Amino acid sequence: MSITRRSFDLAVLGGLFAPALPAIAKAPFAGAQAAGVYRLKVGGFEVTVLNDGLLPIETKLFSGNADAAAKLLETSFLPKDATPTAVNAWLVNTGDKLILVDTGTSNMLGPTLGRLAKNLAAAGVDPATVDMVILTHLHPDHAAGLITTDKKIAFPNATLHVSETEYAFWTSPENAAKAPDDFKPYFDMARNSIKPYVDAGNMERFKDRTEFAPGIVANAAPGHTVGHTMVRLSSGSAQLLLWADIVHNAALQFPEPDRAISFDTDQAMAIASRKRVFDMAATDRLMIAGSHLPFPGLGHVAKASSGYAYVPVQWGADL
Ligand SMILES: [Zn+2]
Repeated sequence: MSITRRSFDLAVLGGLFAPALPAIAKAPFAGAQAAGVYRLKVGGFEVTVLNDGLLPIETKLFSGNADAAAKLLETSFLPKDATPTAVNAWLVNTGDKLILVDTGTSNMLGPTLGRLAKNLAAAGVDPATVDMVILTHLHPDHAAGLITTDKKIAFPNATLHVSETEYAFWTSPENAAKAPDDFKPYFDMARNSIKPYVDAGNMERFKDRTEFAPGIVANAAPGHTVGHTMVRLSSGSAQLLLWADIVHNAALQFPEPDRAISFDTDQAMAIASRKRVFDMAATDRLMIAGSHLPFPGLGHVAKASSGYAYVPVQWGADL
């Protein structure tokens, strides 16, 4: 039937007197966060920051004065008992190779995490196309994503690179035996995560200063774990330091770098590494990327009147 002026008027009138229909939202909520994916260029590299979710880290796990910690959290508008803490990893596309640095938690640390695989898919990357996985250390928020939630190898065509110091520590039965009871499961998690890669002959051990690919270099920063390693990206005059776990709580540890976290294997060494890296990043005006800085966790370190301040980078609309 053709629409005439008359039939249109009748339709409108009919609508006016029609019985009420069930309500349909005019603006339905999305009900979910947008993908945790952020891209930037570092010289000739394209770097994609991938978020794995948020891990609540209790304030009491940090050393130092509790009243001062409460004040720092309050001035940062953070809850006082636990800070929701990002877990980030990085995919570096060299134009030739896809290199993933850290892998998230898979399903090892609960439902607020484990989103890296979904975010990698949102970034348009098939895990089978990843050529290399570098681990900054063997804690489960960095290594557990080597295995999928259904216990399969997550990156079947990648060579895994683990610090030789880190590998020796976590695979030592003596170290596992003498660890406090609540740390023993971390030894199992570390070994289980890397096992399929080791079994397939696809794991290599690296030393400090190893160059994984041109411009992608291991920088040891021990203390948090014995083999904790940062990865420095250099391309032309551009640099980005993937500093991993130099900071676990920006509100507490930039102003007061002496605050250690109970997960540190050697707290004094972790503090010394943090101070050295803060000083270097501030002096060299180096852009840094943190595993546990608020997503996307990219910024600079500024010297403050006491301690340091974190200056996040602004959203870049274009690459
Ligand atoms: Zn971590």
